[in-house]
Amino acid sequence: MKLQNITISRLQKLLLNRKISPQEITQALLARIREKNSRVNAYLTVAEDEAPAQAGVADKRLGKGDGACPLTGIPLAIKDNICIKGVRMTCASKILEHYVPPYNATVIERLSDQGYVLLGKTNMDEFAMGSSTENSGFAPTRNPWDTRCVPGGSSGGSAAAVAAGMCAAALGSDTGGSIRQPAAFCGVVGLKPTYGLVSRYGLVAFASSLDQIGPITRDVRDAAILLSAIAGHDPRDSTSAPKQPPDYLSKLGQSINGLRLGLPKEYFAEGLDPEVAASLEAAREVFSRLGVQFQEVSLPHTDYSIAAYYLIAPAEASSNLARYDGVRYGHRTSKPKNLLQMYYDSREEGFGAEVKRRIMLGTYALSAGYYDAYYLKAQKVRTLIKRDFDLAFTEVDALLTPTAPSPAFRLGEKVTDPLQMYLSDIYTNSVNLAGLPAISVPCGFTANGLPVGLQLIGPAFGEDRLLTIAYAYERETDWHTRRPNL
Ligand code: GLN
Repeated sequence: MKLQNITISRLQKLLLNRKISPQEITQALLARIREKNSRVNAYLTVAEDEAPAQAGVADKRLGKGDGACPLTGIPLAIKDNICIKGVRMTCASKILEHYVPPYNATVIERLSDQGYVLLGKTNMDEFAMGSSTENSGFAPTRNPWDTRCVPGGSSGGSAAAVAAGMCAAALGSDTGGSIRQPAAFCGVVGLKPTYGLVSRYGLVAFASSLDQIGPITRDVRDAAILLSAIAGHDPRDSTSAPKQPPDYLSKLGQSINGLRLGLPKEYFAEGLDPEVAASLEAAREVFSRLGVQFQEVSLPHTDYSIAAYYLIAPAEASSNLARYDGVRYGHRTSKPKNLLQMYYDSREEGFGAEVKRRIMLGTYALSAGYYDAYYLKAQKVRTLIKRDFDLAFTEVDALLTPTAPSPAFRLGEKVTDPLQMYLSDIYTNSVNLAGLPAISVPCGFTANGLPVGLQLIGPAFGEDRLLTIAYAYERETDWHTRRPNL
């Protein structure tokens, strides 16, 4: 097996047995990045200096034996909206082009405690607003399976880096689908944890009631390993759940015979690409062979989820992005006439078109006179959407759906039509509105060789169940072992 395609679990064994050193794997991946990043543009910043230094530290820990943790010496890519002390973080926005965080996000502290190796920061849609990574303020990322296509978004850089063999695994963030949809488009595994499971301290806020950090990996076991490292209560994030996460690895391999999976009928309706539908149908047969029982369920408020999401997310974004004022963070216009003009011009020059659109939509939805009609109404719809799921989970153990309505689309195809772009989130954003966990797993390819993903949605804090189901499926298939020819 080529080192570039190695999973965390394999790499752990090789590192512990001293068959390979952290320096070797780090150098192999840095070389791969140097060779391929110009085609894919997955990384905005490559940690050329930090990575070898951290690999050296990891090597010492592994040498001592007792100091080694599951992620010691494992090279990872981190989405560029997660703070790492001393490493530039842009959120793919011109407004933060030269920003260097003075502290680590909690997830980074946890990875560092284990001795991970940082390979770099990955490209994304500006402030995580988008579904294709074309909204990056710098340049879009390309899909490693077909560089004419988008990798999905907003964590497109992270998903592309995993698919292209430019890291062992990555972290992304998911507000309305941004881990799962790019994972599906790039043929890798993406897990969006339950709201409150993973600390957001040090994650740049987009929509605070929806954002979660999660793993993007080559297989389900790796998702369990990475989730174990980052999950758990953090007093620095007031929305973090004061719960001890279960052992995500111990249940992998358990039988799923007799389990009940729900098929939400609204997710298999008009607008679903026929090749995606066929892959889902084939996946269903695999699950049936494993003894899973299927049942049709209804999530009747699905039709309203895009509208509710695109009111709530921009409303929260408009408030969160008020902090970029040219005074405290990032870009400041060069020759402002006065203070007010300084604010105007700094924001005008620093933010891209989609971010401005969201700030305007969000400010409008929150403004006096419109708040009740839009924002408050959307919050009520959100409650109904959550109730749909609660009801479904009284009948079934988890839900099976497509992750996205289509495979990866072409660059430029939707970028001028925001509504079409927003519709790419149709199967993912209800999960965020309801605060639930969901995982996307590779489940096939189109005739043109583009990956297709299936999504499993579980009840709150049901990550262990989702991982067990996904792992059982993955063991019966080989979709996750395929690699693009870059
Ligand atoms: N595509 C969605 C949006 O544009 C979701 C983004 C995300 O999950 N960060 O808001």
